[in-house]
Amino acid sequence: MLKFIIKHTKTLPIPFSRRLISMSIEFLRAIFRNYILNTSSSRGPLFITWMVTFDCNAFCVFCSTHSQKKKFTADLSREKAIATAHEIGKSKVKIVGFTGGEVLLWPYLFDVIKILKSYNIAVYLVTNGHLLKEKADEILENRVDSITVSIDSCNSEEHDSLRNLPGLFKTAIEGIQYLKKKRHGKYPIIKSTTVLTQQNIHTISQTIEYLSRIVDHTSIQPISFGYENHPHSKNTHSMKSLLFDNAEYHSTQSYIDQLCDQFPQFNTSYFRNIPAFIFNPITLQKKIKCWSPFFRLIIMPDGEVFHCIASPAMSSLGNINKSSFMQIWNGSQIRQQRDCIRKHQNNCLCWTQDVSFNALMYSLKLPNKLPTFNKSDMLP
Ligand code: SF4
Ligand code: SF4
Repeated sequence: MLKFIIKHTKTLPIPFSRRLISMSIEFLRAIFRNYILNTSSSRGPLFITWMVTFDCNAFCVFCSTHSQKKKFTADLSREKAIATAHEIGKSKVKIVGFTGGEVLLWPYLFDVIKILKSYNIAVYLVTNGHLLKEKADEILENRVDSITVSIDSCNSEEHDSLRNLPGLFKTAIEGIQYLKKKRHGKYPIIKSTTVLTQQNIHTISQTIEYLSRIVDHTSIQPISFGYENHPHSKNTHSMKSLLFDNAEYHSTQSYIDQLCDQFPQFNTSYFRNIPAFIFNPITLQKKIKCWSPFFRLIIMPDGEVFHCIASPAMSSLGNINKSSFMQIWNGSQIRQQRDCIRKHQNNCLCWTQDVSFNALMYSLKLPNKLPTFNKSDMLP
């Protein structure tokens, strides 16, 4: 069982083997208090995704961060960010992941990380790598646990054209190599993530083989679109050449099978189900339930808090400029959204690494045998 959990948690942004036992206890506690009872808790969520900025130095073809910036206009003050970090620390959150936008552009990033680390919280960053070398010393000094760098191809031209930032591939790889040389021991763990598109799937095995020689862990996630408050909110028309055509189902399945067979870390339900998510998401939606509001919260650059920024039905739960973080976590809004999801009324599905716990939970046999959790038993 332990081996199974360790293997599957590699799809999460941070391997947490060090904290495995306490995480497992917290996991069970969260299921009992937040899912079964749906009651208030003195402990915060297990995970926080903190989207610190929608500013970015890249202009990726599949990303809408620059238009989200127009929607979430206000920025958190330094004082509020610091007070929130203390509140997160006191509420016993286990993991905080910083993402955006480009997190290394956010001026208060290391002030906040310093505080979270003083509460022994695991911290990971997701970056495009352009400023990695420049910020490497601060990353090391502040004991960041894990860095995920987005690399979409082993071909530098292809990567730079997808990301619309000339020279990005070179600076990102240099940043990774520099950080690896300077780190003491294995922290920060360096991970790559590749956005899988119709354009790069033909060379995905080569890209993963190349990245495996450079980083500690590799990962992929399928291109996504139309998410409500997310940087993946673009419409399909604007990135047609990257999207999969129905005629490509069999070839996509075979690329993914090959990848899962060649690289054992990809042999999990999250990666194995990528073709189903791309070509027939409704089949997954019918059987895979969402665990998001029971385990995590997302803080936006302007202080709005959500548990999900993909579905339009999951509205803001509050704003940390107006309420405390714990008031939001125990508030009526989140309880309503938990209830909706408990009754399987959400009718949605997303497939990104930060919610790969949904696929992980689905692959655990016990919860799926219990009528309380089993989604397919409840749907017509
Ligand atoms: S995907 Fe990342 S690097 Fe690319 S524009 Fe969006 S936030 Fe920036
Ligand atoms: S499954 Fe639905 S509610 Fe849950 S995180 Fe994904 S889009 Fe949001």
